[in-house]
Amino acid sequence: LMQLSVPLNFIGFIYREIRQGLTDIEQMFDLLDVKQEVLDRPDAKPLAVGAGKVEFRDVHFAYDPARPILKGVSFDVPAGKTVAIVGPSGAGKSTISRLLFRFYDIQQGAILIDGQDIRDVTQESLRAAIGMVPQDTVLFNDTIAYNIRYGRTDASDEEVFKAAELAQIGPFIEHLPDGYKAMVGERGLKLSGGEKQRVAIARTILKAPPILMLDEATSALDTHTEQEIQAALDLVSRGRTTIVIAHRLSTVITADEIIVLKGGQIAERGTHLSLLRKDGLYASMWARQREATEAEERLRIARETD
Ligand code: ADP
Ligand code: MG
Repeated sequence: LMQLSVPLNFIGFIYREIRQGLTDIEQMFDLLDVKQEVLDRPDAKPLAVGAGKVEFRDVHFAYDPARPILKGVSFDVPAGKTVAIVGPSGAGKSTISRLLFRFYDIQQGAILIDGQDIRDVTQESLRAAIGMVPQDTVLFNDTIAYNIRYGRTDASDEEVFKAAELAQIGPFIEHLPDGYKAMVGERGLKLSGGEKQRVAIARTILKAPPILMLDEATSALDTHTEQEIQAALDLVSRGRTTIVIAHRLSTVITADEIIVLKGGQIAERGTHLSLLRKDGLYASMWARQREATEAEERLRIARETD
């Protein structure tokens, strides 16, 4: 009976949450005290976070055993450094972020943080160490202040304002009729993708985690918004171990290492310049994206001179 009641509660929970306009993965985990796929070991200890080094060692993973998604992925993110993951859609980039968060357990290999296998530590301590800015943030049906403070519930009002400022969303909030008390989410104010992402960034600034996992927005943000978000992201990631899943290659130029993922394997790796010199997959992605940007720019100039 116990075994049955958990999935039923779980389904009830999911149903209610979807109706309310569900939250991102991180929030769902926090709300959801039901451990579903992944369990803490009986002897699990809290993660002892040191400098925040992340290692993927020969990671193999499949959602469905018949269809491998990651086929032996290995990389290191030295403490405080930034590794960018790029590659075609469906390559397994977001899967890597879910695995670091231990949304699923891997089938082979290991994921380590400061030398500790993430399967040996409590999920609570693991999640506390990682700040996740997902591709598509869904907000709680509550005030905008509540949504930011979720990053650290004991933060003062001043800290909330400061975080919003740093995430480049402060002035926007101050111009709302109800300011920080404005209701957002499904039943409140509908924020744009870029605004929601900045709320998620503000939340992460408050949380100030040693490790960051950023899944950049793919959606066509205008150049101005994109630059503001980029500036905010650069600020949060300074001095923190950062994995950035990048859709716009312009944002990865400064990464310490770029990993090109294709079909669940690392096709190429290196710095921006070394990958351009290699004239392979990354170089062709870069050329294609630059053409698209230039075409956009020509169109904009043509419109302005009309
Ligand atoms: P990317 O972020 O590089 O676009 P993803 O990591 O999201 O790719 O997905 C990699 C592959 O895994 C895709 O083929 C996708 O369809 C599949 N996939 C993603 N999530 C699930 C899931 N929950 N169940 C089954 N397959 C999934
Ligand atoms: Mg993705």
